[in-house]
Amino acid sequence: MGGTFDPIHHGHLVAASEAAALLDLDEVVFVPTGKPTFKQDTRVSSAEDRYLMTVIATASNPRFTVSRVDIDRPGLTYTVDTLRDLRTARPDADLYFITGADAIEQILTWKDADELWRKAHFVAVTRPGHPLTVEGLPRDGVTTLEVPALAISSTDCRRRAAAGQPVWYLVPDGVVQYIAKHGLYRGLDE
Ligand code: ATP
Ligand code: MG
Repeated sequence: MGGTFDPIHHGHLVAASEAAALLDLDEVVFVPTGKPTFKQDTRVSSAEDRYLMTVIATASNPRFTVSRVDIDRPGLTYTVDTLRDLRTARPDADLYFITGADAIEQILTWKDADELWRKAHFVAVTRPGHPLTVEGLPRDGVTTLEVPALAISSTDCRRRAAAGQPVWYLVPDGVVQYIAKHGLYRGLDE
């Protein structure tokens, strides 16, 4: 599951857990992006902060791991490179790429979109506020999954933290404390 994870929240974790259960996956690898291609105009926390929050959030689940492939690769992050690196690390695995409904809509605009279908099976999970449409995508390349709806976004969590509003129960406890300890999102609106 790729994402900016700025910060990781319970919407990500529920989506990953449901996809793992419904598709009988052995492992979910969370892959924080390096420089997100679609977020070049927005302020993004450092890769290390996002990586560490992802580690903290996933540490208690034996099936959840975190990969550094995207944050250690120089340049912009493209999913086709992510999948190539994950394949190298796990030559025999069946790879599934888990995304939310909003991200799957963008997929045809991703670099080397045609190649993506050959590298992994795509899983699109429902997300409140985003219709789950897979028009224009190869039907056998994408599985759509209904997951329990959590109307949580990282954007909302950042705004809340910046405004001094609580993010408790939207993100894991350790992530609440990491945000406070490192003063992430302070002065975001300045
Ligand atoms: P931002 O608001 O900064 O874009 P985000 O909440 O969308 O953050 P991302 O890191 O962009 O989080 O998302 C990573 C992946 O998780 C994407 O595929 C996204 O669609 C999916 N996702 C994010 N939030 C949810 C949610 N509440 N339910 C289901 N999927 C989600
Ligand atoms: Mg997003």
